[in-house]
Amino acid sequence: MTATGTAAPGTEASERYEAVIGIEVHCQLRTESKMFCPCSTAYDGARPNSHCCPVCLGLPGALPVINRRAVELVLSTGAAIGATTPDATRWDRKNYFYPDLPKGYQISQYDLPLAAAGALAFDTSNGPVTVRITRAHLEEDTAKLVHAEGPRGDRISLVDFNRSGVPLMEIVTEPDLRTAEQARRYAEELQLLLRTIGASDADMERGQLRVEANVSLRPRGTEPFGTRVEVKNMNSFRAVEHAVAFEIERQAAALDAGEALRMETRGWSDERGETYHMRSKETSDDYRYFPEPDLPPLRVDAAWLTEVRGALPELPAARRARYRDALGLSAYDAAVLVADADAGRLFEATLAAGEGLEPKPVANWVTGDYLRIRNAAAAPITVDPAALATLVGLVADGSLNRTSARQVLDAHVESGEGIEAIVARLGLRQISDTAALGTIVDEVIAANPSAVADVRAGKAQAIGFLVGQVMKATRGQANAAVAQAALRDRLGDGERTN
Ligand SMILES: [Zn+2]
Repeated sequence: MTATGTAAPGTEASERYEAVIGIEVHCQLRTESKMFCPCSTAYDGARPNSHCCPVCLGLPGALPVINRRAVELVLSTGAAIGATTPDATRWDRKNYFYPDLPKGYQISQYDLPLAAAGALAFDTSNGPVTVRITRAHLEEDTAKLVHAEGPRGDRISLVDFNRSGVPLMEIVTEPDLRTAEQARRYAEELQLLLRTIGASDADMERGQLRVEANVSLRPRGTEPFGTRVEVKNMNSFRAVEHAVAFEIERQAAALDAGEALRMETRGWSDERGETYHMRSKETSDDYRYFPEPDLPPLRVDAAWLTEVRGALPELPAARRARYRDALGLSAYDAAVLVADADAGRLFEATLAAGEGLEPKPVANWVTGDYLRIRNAAAAPITVDPAALATLVGLVADGSLNRTSARQVLDAHVESGEGIEAIVARLGLRQISDTAALGTIVDEVIAANPSAVADVRAGKAQAIGFLVGQVMKATRGQANAAVAQAALRDRLGDGERTN
């Protein structure tokens, strides 16, 4: 289809066309053994072809046995996205030839997925979005092809079967997404969900979470879908957003020029910042699916499903809502604490360790200073939750100012020393006592007659200079608010200008 005639020149592509995006995710499930054999899935860094057996090598006569844990992880995912699970599901053979598929078929699920008709909600910069999830099913991963140079400088391809037969869950959305940002945010939220329920480590760079986007455009205000292009090889969330944004612009330019788009699969190149043609998809692939004769249908009884649902932890959306509604945190803090596992754990543990601590300042310390230190550190850091609770308490009761408290936290991270000990050693306890500050305030007034005259003449900023002198005289230990009040009191400036 072309959109010539509907395109108003000089407007943004997004104003003229609506993008229609669906996402397919393949994720490796967190199991100890493979999908249909006892081989270990802990093959990272192992010698190639050291984690295989007749089943995952596809040798004749080898028979598959279902990994119960893998099924359970898909059921958990289904429960977490509110999907329905049929009483009985079955396995199908998806037939195709490729050197990384030793049997010549993949055991998958065709018309009876373990989970169907779910949904996932997430926030974007333009508000909340809910995407419908068509299905989540279970299948097995392929082997890995390694392209290399042979001994005579020729190009060779090697096959590593360690990955062959690893449990893989495919999750497919409806074409409900409309922007590149939504595509990225969906993938991020799905990763968070999968990690929270323990279904997958879902590390994109390690290939445990592979995202493919189907992108098409239609002129705004029209219903029929345009020609769909599949984009793959996106190895990070940033890449997902960039690839989809690029593809929307590319398709809009083609439609504007009156070019017909073709069904194709395109790859994403991070270096070039563009998608490129991989293969045409003139006809849909014919995988000749048929029921897997080596495996019986799989029954999922109600008791098993109930048990899986009952074992689900608090899901990310519920936890964000609890942080906002019950603890009064900002949407930003709630999102950061739920998205970052370390930060979330430290927040919860600090709240539990400190009696009567307000959640908000604890959240500020964790999302601010803790993450600042951790992200800048070369090695993993530890913050003792009880120590952080003490620190937040000292700031809350006026014993420490923010600047000193930052210094104390840095010192604690560096040495593991207790908070009170650091405060005493560095002499950082804030002087909030009016009587104690009074002498210093008097000295500062005597030493700075021109600033004093300015304050008396109503120049509001001069008081800041005098407070600075008090801070200097106390090496930053004065409580600035108390010092300012004492200065105003002595200079007869009752007006609160700041
Ligand atoms: Zn095996």
